Amino acid sequence: MLANKKIAIVGGGPGGLTLARLLQSKGAAVKVYERDYSQEARVQGAIVDLHFDSGLKVIKAAGLLESFQLNYMPGADKFRLLDKDATILFDEPDQGPADFNDERFRPEIDRGALRDLLIASLAPDTVVWDSQFAGMQQVNSAWQLSFKNGTTAMADLVIGADGYRSKVRPYVTDIKERYSGATIIQGEINDPQKDCPEVNALVNKANLIAMGVGKTIAAQPRGDGGITFYTASLYPENWIKSGGIDFNDNQQVYDYLVGFYADWDPVFHTMFKAGSHFVPRPLNYFPLDQHWHAQATITLIGDAAHLMPPSGEGVNTAMLDALDLSECIANGEYNDLQAAIAAYEQRMRARAAVLGREALEGIKDFASPGTASIQKMLQLFDPIG
Ligand SMILES: Cc1cc2nc3c(=O)[nH]c(=O)nc-3n(C[C@H](O)[C@H](O)[C@H](O)COP(=O)(O)OP(=O)(O)OC[C@H]3O[C@@H](n4cnc5c(N)ncnc54)[C@H](O)[C@@H]3O)c2cc1C
Repeated sequence: MLANKKIAIVGGGPGGLTLARLLQSKGAAVKVYERDYSQEARVQGAIVDLHFDSGLKVIKAAGLLESFQLNYMPGADKFRLLDKDATILFDEPDQGPADFNDERFRPEIDRGALRDLLIASLAPDTVVWDSQFAGMQQVNSAWQLSFKNGTTAMADLVIGADGYRSKVRPYVTDIKERYSGATIIQGEINDPQKDCPEVNALVNKANLIAMGVGKTIAAQPRGDGGITFYTASLYPENWIKSGGIDFNDNQQVYDYLVGFYADWDPVFHTMFKAGSHFVPRPLNYFPLDQHWHAQATITLIGDAAHLMPPSGEGVNTAMLDALDLSECIANGEYNDLQAAIAAYEQRMRARAAVLGREALEGIKDFASPGTASIQKMLQLFDPIG
């Protein structure tokens, strides 16, 4: 089905790069068009844990387990829960030796390291950098893609893997995202040992969540020794615009956060002080019952298909989409591409609806916990404690 076909994957995130790897290993002609200027262009964010029956399963199917084992962050899968006074409520013990055959093992990897290992597995020049997809038009049975830098490319099959604000998605469906009610502010600390050593010790190279009534802070280590943190709460839909904060101005963000977390332990304020590169993120989602008719030459994977509030599944699910799609279109089980894409999309949407419901149910407990939700969190991690 893919013989003599050019495949364009738009977006070189975990979904797009995994798909490129899987399709190339089946002999397909693939290019990944990525908006970033280069592989080094930006911090990719903090760590992400891969799960046995999704992300890790795909890593194994892609023949990349050995490379993953060389690059993951042993010990970063631990979890620590604090209250607003920085008292430790729960501290997960060390998980013991790594066992990639244990389905409870959820190894963490720096997002940049995951991206690098996926790129290293591709044929040279598969990723075309500085290619921000702007639009496309049909030329006979193919697509001509146009990029913001003025270049164009032809493809027989286009896969939108361009994430949250996908520009490919409108060619598949006009269903728009909805607001979950929660917004997070993400911040980066490049040298936590120097700028907020107490916070650095609390994070202790693993996952930390601090919860108080109505608001939460989460922090994670990055592979380069930095820390990424998120503050979360419930806000009106247009709060980012209407709130009057210039998120490019660190001092303004600091002043806002110190005020909002005024009754929290001052150690959290040192975290805000050390923060920079603030990004506000309204947590949106696509409707759980979304549906569209499958086309023969275009489809979506990952957040572009099924954005949902973070629940620890997004990267894993994007990778699973890549595996499902590669199998449907390359294994010869279906008569034509449209049937193969329809089968993939049905599976993908069904899975995303279940995960999306769980994510939506969990997001209010996470972003705006009450005393009961903090107890629920404790029960989840420490059922006998
Ligand atoms: C705060 C937060 C924490 C999260 N934590 C976790 C977690 O712990 N575990 C987990 O599994 N998931 C987590 N997620 C979700 C996860 O980040 C996403 O679900 C996942 O990254 C989706 O992968 P993707 O490949 O579909 O898209 P993305 O990772 O968004 O990648 C899209 C790629 O497309 C590129 N791109 C965008 N527009 C264009 C364009 N027009 N042209 C060309 N390229 C373009 C981007 O530069 C990017 O490289 C979290 C999300 C958030 C917001």
